[in-house]
Amino acid sequence: MQLICQNCGKRYADQELLYHCNHCQEPLEVGEVFVGSIRVGNPLRQNMMDRYSDFFPYLQKTAVCLQEGFTPLFKSSSFAQKLGIQEVLLKNETQNPTWSFKDRGTMVAMNYAIQKGFHQFGTVSTGNMAVSVAAYGAAAGKKTVILVGNDIAKEKLAPIAIYGAQVILVDGEYGNLYQESIRLGWKHGIYFINSDHPLRVEGYKTIAYEICEQTNFNPPDYMIVPTSSGGLLRGIEKGFAEFMAAGFIAKKPKLVCAQAAGCAPIVKAWENDAEKIVCWQNPQTEAHAIANPMPPSGNRVLQILRQEQGFAVAVAEDAILQTQKDLAQNGLFVQPASAVALAAAIKLVKEGLLPRQARIACVLTGSGLKYTSVLSKQQLSYQTCGIEKLEGLLKNL
Ligand SMILES: *Cc1c(COP(=O)(O)O)cnc(C)c1O
Ligand SMILES: [Zn+2]
Repeated sequence: MQLICQNCGKRYADQELLYHCNHCQEPLEVGEVFVGSIRVGNPLRQNMMDRYSDFFPYLQKTAVCLQEGFTPLFKSSSFAQKLGIQEVLLKNETQNPTWSFKDRGTMVAMNYAIQKGFHQFGTVSTGNMAVSVAAYGAAAGKKTVILVGNDIAKEKLAPIAIYGAQVILVDGEYGNLYQESIRLGWKHGIYFINSDHPLRVEGYKTIAYEICEQTNFNPPDYMIVPTSSGGLLRGIEKGFAEFMAAGFIAKKPKLVCAQAAGCAPIVKAWENDAEKIVCWQNPQTEAHAIANPMPPSGNRVLQILRQEQGFAVAVAEDAILQTQKDLAQNGLFVQPASAVALAAAIKLVKEGLLPRQARIACVLTGSGLKYTSVLSKQQLSYQTCGIEKLEGLLKNL
């Protein structure tokens, strides 16, 4: 397998532990696939790698799989009406085995690593990625280590540990843990599948493939993507690019990078017309899953937005929580980070940046049940009454 630097073009062969270019430090990407077909068949009896195997030529077989992907693309006429645009599609990634899209990337990266003879896995994360890697490590019967900062909220620890993973709370600068884990993994044969690992990004391509199929190969005009490290946005862009090269679609959606205003390093660089992001000081947002102050794929995301006529937008904290509530009151309970996409769409419509005839898709990245302590900020109300008074309440609902 070849890894290619999208910035300087340098190529690397069989360097499965490399994330970033030695030459310019920008993220590496697996070479694009230009030809291929979809293995038509009953998706109820396929996995992602069966259906899209042509686009993963480096994977010989599937050693571990939890039937991730094939998530619904929900067409919300109620939000289309509310926003006053033609179509609002919601890609419901909360229906993955560990309730976020991270499973797609974990699956591809872990299968590749098993094929390469690795027996130990790890990641640096306090949230969805930690849970995902722990689950797939368990399913594969492999040793798995999860590194978390030692200020992690207690409610997040048990859902990682339940899978049997070794959880290590590391004291020190959390930002340095990403690099340090890659260095130590290299040295001790532990395959770290961090946020923007090239094969993790490969897994995310399947979101774009599925959206193409689910829209009868007429994908939306805009894809709005909650962005932290930038891995998800990179993967979605690559997926559409490959399906266009293979002749399935005639045009790609424009990509919108959505961040929380309390931690928006990519949006800031975008607004300053800068080519490189700078570290965000003092991140403050309930959207923890996208609060990376120094996104390792941030510069690459800026490059993609420029190339693809996309843009970046930040949304305020109250808009995030309000949208989380609005989504739930339409039947979809997502975490604050995931509500950021639709909140961004609402803001863009108000600012006249999304035309009325636009068809958009938002990625609902992860489940609201992952992070219930935020609900104390939602001002939810309850009623109490004696059983003899119940009828009085019910007849006047
Ligand atoms: C990881 C994550 C994101 C952002 O993904 P990146 O690849 O880091 O940009 C968005 N939403 C949720 C819920 C996540 O867990
Ligand atoms: Zn390079």
